[in-house]
Amino acid sequence: MSVLIFAELDQGEVKVASLEALYYGANVAQELQTSATALVIGTTSADLASLGQYGVTKVLHVSDEKLNAANALAYASVLAAAVEVEQASVIVIAKSSLGDTLAARSAGKLKAGLVSNVTELPDTSNGFRVKHSIYTGKAFAITEMREGRKILTLKKNVVSPELSQATASVESFSPSIPETDFVAKVIQTEKATGEISLSDADIIVSGGRGMKGPEHWKPLEELAEALHAATGCSKPVSDLDWRPHHEHIGQTGLKVSPNVYIACGISGAIQHLAGVNGSKVIVVINKDPEAPFFKAADYGIVGDVFDILPRLTKAAREQLV
Ligand SMILES: Cc1cc2nc3c(=O)[nH]c(=O)nc-3n(C[C@H](O)[C@H](O)[C@H](O)COP(=O)(O)OP(=O)(O)OC[C@H]3O[C@@H](n4cnc5c(N)ncnc54)[C@H](O)[C@@H]3O)c2cc1C
Repeated sequence: MSVLIFAELDQGEVKVASLEALYYGANVAQELQTSATALVIGTTSADLASLGQYGVTKVLHVSDEKLNAANALAYASVLAAAVEVEQASVIVIAKSSLGDTLAARSAGKLKAGLVSNVTELPDTSNGFRVKHSIYTGKAFAITEMREGRKILTLKKNVVSPELSQATASVESFSPSIPETDFVAKVIQTEKATGEISLSDADIIVSGGRGMKGPEHWKPLEELAEALHAATGCSKPVSDLDWRPHHEHIGQTGLKVSPNVYIACGISGAIQHLAGVNGSKVIVVINKDPEAPFFKAADYGIVGDVFDILPRLTKAAREQLV
């Protein structure tokens, strides 16, 4: 019995959400009095031994170039092989679009139980119970997992890794992957450049219809730049083509969970909140003190965005030099 954690790469580096998953998985292993192993798939120049800082004692590295383009079918075959080698009973995967697909396919392949959006360490005092977020973050459920193999996908930002000085042993791993796993091939990837990705951002500055029009986005972008933040928007804003559709956050858009979400001139309709209530801290700027968003806010500023944003940007620039 052991715990296996999938460490997802992005351009050769382990993603921050996966580092959280490593730390979480190592803590699960400690609770179960067993060991934790990381699985890294794809070419990387990262120092994999240093993943030991997060509590894993071993890293299995599959460096097959064919796997540099994420392919959920092939990744599920690799993960299943690693589960066999490690005799893993718990598998931890950080939530992401690849993570979600991989978890579902692996659960099918391994006949394992799957719980998504886990927010806390499992309670193993009497069985294996996990708390997880449901209904797009509006409620929590506690689910008892009885299956022999258990897959957990971990919600971003629910653990804060405390690093040790330890290093992990790194072993190369070359499982055989059926050719049929490569029926679909990624031919080309175009990555947005010069932008911080909304899914990975620590801070998001987001605008709604209160920003009045695309020509008024500069103060918001300037705050985002000062805070090294990503920019987002409400649905009507992207519907009106004020901002690109990939910035649309909410029930029908992207669900985000940054450390800080700053909502500028957004009313806080339930469909928008569904995409942001995983944020650690919510700051709302709105000139209407009755705006529903204030009920979900940790900090609220009642005022005109065009007055508040430049003042926040100035303060951020002064603090963060
Ligand atoms: C099925 C369905 C799915 C939906 N999915 C989503 C979704 O995924 N995401 C989403 O965002 N919406 C979604 N919506 C739309 C949602 O219901 C709201 O209409 C939308 O979120 C409102 O956007 P808004 O807050 O930008 O605009 P508004 O509701 O027009 O609010 C603008 C806000 O700006 C404030 N304001 C105006 N001027 C200023 C100023 N100068 N300074 C400060 N504040 C100012 C106003 O007080 C107001 O609160 C969905 C709706 C439906 C029916």
